[in-house]
Amino acid sequence: MDLAERILAGDRRAIAQAISMVEDGADGLAELSSELFAHTGRAYTVGVTGSPGVGKSTLAGALVAHARRLDLSVAVLAIDPTSPFTGGALLGDRLRMQEHATDPGVFIRSMATRGHLGGMALAAPEAIRILDAAGSDLVIVETVGVGQAEVEVAAATDTTLVVVSPGWGDAVQVAKAGILEVADVFVVNKADREGAAAAVRDLEQMIRMGPPLDWTPPVVSTSAATGAGVEELWHEIARHREHAEATGRLDERRRERLLREVAALAGERVRGIVRRRLDTDRALVEGLVSRRTDPITAAEKLVAGVVPAEAAGERTGP
Ligand code: GDP
Repeated sequence: MDLAERILAGDRRAIAQAISMVEDGADGLAELSSELFAHTGRAYTVGVTGSPGVGKSTLAGALVAHARRLDLSVAVLAIDPTSPFTGGALLGDRLRMQEHATDPGVFIRSMATRGHLGGMALAAPEAIRILDAAGSDLVIVETVGVGQAEVEVAAATDTTLVVVSPGWGDAVQVAKAGILEVADVFVVNKADREGAAAAVRDLEQMIRMGPPLDWTPPVVSTSAATGAGVEELWHEIARHREHAEATGRLDERRRERLLREVAALAGERVRGIVRRRLDTDRALVEGLVSRRTDPITAAEKLVAGVVPAEAAGERTGP
């Protein structure tokens, strides 16, 4: 069996190998992607984002446990855009995840990229599709922090959870981190701690004061460490899913994601070509440095060399 067939059969080593290929931007990825693509679109994806330490990993573990009780197969993809470690180093020491390590219905993997494929925003969807093709009913995408790239990755899912914990979770910080817009469900984790009720109130008030939305993100409190509130969280995720399906938002969101991904992939390729040409086109560089060619003209020349049809179209266009 080739790699794609093994992935479709749910072979864990094949899945791991394919995700490593995504991390490395390995040769053969395009071929693999084309073999798998028709078999994707079945998994439901849930993103989990929030500051380090709020309990995202613990919460993901609790959601996995819940999904398993419902007999759903689950994959967790932990995204670390900065970590040089790969292949489970990140999750290896995470206790809550370890209890699922021997469950054949659970696949857990952390992922970093080394600058290939235009970074995490482009690598993550490819990895998610591999897990989707392998037959996961649910793919949980967990990010390590709330950096721009991480929020983007977590938001590129069907339902995005924004997790805060008391002491961190006041509205101002959520707004500052720019994660208000991406939240489909807010989670105040560590509800066993003081200040949880206040954090819920703050968030609810912030949502009320915000612009009217076609879906108002609910605020759920959980204590991931004990599992309290996880069932309610599951229910809210399901409710968001039903809403998104019923309104057509789910299809629309998936479509938008695909278009954005393709635009980014194509852009990345063009950028690569342009960079290489700049390195080799001595005449152009000389012209620039000696101020005979201005940057706009130089850029136009470069683009015309890379995508001639488009450049010609633009010149004659309206
Ligand atoms: P992450 O960095 O957001 O993934 O957070 P982790 O899941 O690694 O959790 C950070 C710490 O918070 C760990 O020591 C957890 O055991 C603890 N923790 C997670 N959930 C809860 C909770 O509901 N209540 C309390 N008190 N501690 C929790």
